[in-house]
Amino acid sequence: ATPALDVQGLSVEFPTRRGVLKAIDDVSMQIAPGEILGVVGESGAGKSITGLAVLGLLEHPGRIAQGAIHVGGRRVDTLTEAELTKVRGREMGAIFQDPLTALNPLFTVGKQLVETIRLHTGMSKTEAEGRALELLRSVGIPAPEERLRQYPHQFSGGMRQRVVIALALAAGPRLIIADEPTTALDVSIQAQITALLRKLCDETGVGIMLVTHDMGVIAETADRVCVMYSGRVVESGPVGDVIHNPQHPYTKGLMAAIPSLHDRVEVLSQIDGSMPRLNARPSGCAFHPRCPHAGPKCSAQKPLLQKVGTTSAACWLQQGGTQ
Ligand code: SF4
Ligand code: MG
Repeated sequence: ATPALDVQGLSVEFPTRRGVLKAIDDVSMQIAPGEILGVVGESGAGKSITGLAVLGLLEHPGRIAQGAIHVGGRRVDTLTEAELTKVRGREMGAIFQDPLTALNPLFTVGKQLVETIRLHTGMSKTEAEGRALELLRSVGIPAPEERLRQYPHQFSGGMRQRVVIALALAAGPRLIIADEPTTALDVSIQAQITALLRKLCDETGVGIMLVTHDMGVIAETADRVCVMYSGRVVESGPVGDVIHNPQHPYTKGLMAAIPSLHDRVEVLSQIDGSMPRLNARPSGCAFHPRCPHAGPKCSAQKPLLQKVGTTSAACWLQQGGTQ
């Protein structure tokens, strides 16, 4: 099947007065229809920038310097702004951390859904109203007939995020970018929203890029995972394999943050230090200043992703040693 998303060799640059920052350095990832790819890493890893680059929403002066992005088989990184605006609504949906940014406080939820549906599908008003009702039902909003007539402030945080998910699905997209969709919600609601994303992905065949700093969310929801560090993918593979048998020292450190895994996986107790700033990315393997296994080769040469069993890792430990 044509991938929902295919990113090849993506580099994103931000020109600054002091030189060009390479925020994303040669990132590749694929998402099949009906698949959830978790993109995980600490803040500053480049997860959100990758998602924004796919959506064509990089903030000025950010630009795609290299690579190609296809959504549902169609190249999107070379489209004009006007073409992209159409494709974005129809083929791609977006869900961000704060549902209020996606909703207009002045209009009822029904009006916003109906307008979005009509804009991208050409349905009549009556058809679109039927579809809006069906969407609210599919995202688990009780009494959808009444809810359509209400305004965003009349919804709880969790219900509001369900409305945003319904909006993202309105035109039947191939791909949804969900960037920290549960981070702002009560813990008790988080699992319901991730379960909903899983259900919708299975039912509609949409591909989902789930961007999060929380390895626990990935463990529960994703099929495959990409671990990012300092603008690069350092490990990727099926989620169970990456979680239970992480190859990259950084991934092992991230696992330490999932308490329920402690008895099952050998983990680093804690990764000391923090993500490097993009204007100060360390040479070679960017993780080397924090890595307990770093050797001379690690600061001298950048390791590339290579298959290690069922996963891929960018680490000299599995590629001939760090000396
Ligand atoms: Fe650590 Fe070296 Fe592997 Fe980087 S390449 S993760 S510094 S061992
Ligand atoms: Mg982010």
